[in-house]
Amino acid sequence: STVESLLRDADIAMYEAKRSGRGRYVMFEPAMHKRVRDDVSLENDLRQALPNQELFLVYQPLVNLGDGRLTGMEALIRWRQPQRGMVSPVAFIPVAEACGLIGQIGRFVLQRACAEFAALRECMGPLAPPSVSVNLSRAQLGEAALVADIQQVLRANGMEAAQLQLEITESLAAQDNQVQAKLREIKALGVTLALDDFVTGYSSLSCLHELPIDTVKIDRAFVGVAQHSAYHRVLIEATILMAETLGMSTVAEGIETQEQAELMQSLRCGKGQGYLFGKPVTSGELRGWIEARADLEYGKT
Ligand code: C2E
Ligand code: MG
Ligand code: MG
Repeated sequence: STVESLLRDADIAMYEAKRSGRGRYVMFEPAMHKRVRDDVSLENDLRQALPNQELFLVYQPLVNLGDGRLTGMEALIRWRQPQRGMVSPVAFIPVAEACGLIGQIGRFVLQRACAEFAALRECMGPLAPPSVSVNLSRAQLGEAALVADIQQVLRANGMEAAQLQLEITESLAAQDNQVQAKLREIKALGVTLALDDFVTGYSSLSCLHELPIDTVKIDRAFVGVAQHSAYHRVLIEATILMAETLGMSTVAEGIETQEQAELMQSLRCGKGQGYLFGKPVTSGELRGWIEARADLEYGKT
């Protein structure tokens, strides 16, 4: 009814379009108002999260599907907000990206994950996970200081570059020259790269060889349906064969049952991650998990 509200609503729709991946149009709907308000309030709370020490990390083990050995751990961020309770990273990472907080939060995650990894190595020696994986968001890849930050964190914690793996989700990154260049710079440090949440299909498979990655992580949604869908099994198998041919390793995400683990192993997937092996836990709890497993191993022999 007014020019102002028309422009405001158009702006909200544009914001939605950018949020859902740019290069598209979105029709305004009244429900979007509420979402914008919610995001603004989440953003205000998120600004307090770092200074108030509400953010912390949990770690999920990655295991070798063949012999069950611990091959790494993935750092996952958690936010305990006094009024909201636990807020999922799926909800707040996109907000952090949109409002420019992702740089600070990303640095916090990298520093904390490496420090806790080094501490585990220090106290557990060879029992500790051989590497730590940290999720990078697309926005972080655009930061000029990223490579220097990574180098600094490795040095500060006495880590070898190969002990750090960075996970990126964008298979579309293959089409972006700037992102590709940044990935190559990171790889030149000796840090390894994983492609997270890989959803296989013709277009993503054909991008694989263009990316300087070491590991492909097969999305939980695929792993979940593989038992009942021959179509998905074939796609997973194709991904694994392609990865193998390109010299990359593979991880099946979200393994919850023994049957899924066996199926993924029979499809030649090298590693697994999921509730069957271990849920994400604090570094102290992970230490307990490792020690309990070591006792079991010892008991066996
Ligand atoms: P992701 O990197 O693919 O992480 C795996 C997610 O799957 C985690 O959820 C984990 O808790 C969950 N998961 C693992 N095993 C199972 C399973 O067996 N069953 C089920 N149902 N779920 C399982 P979470 O921690 O909520 O993280 C969600 C996403 O948020 C991550 O997906 C990642 O994309 C993003 N994220 C988490 N931490 C960070 C971070 O520090 N930085 C950035 N940029 N993104 C992060
Ligand atoms: Mg990940
Ligand atoms: Mg994933």
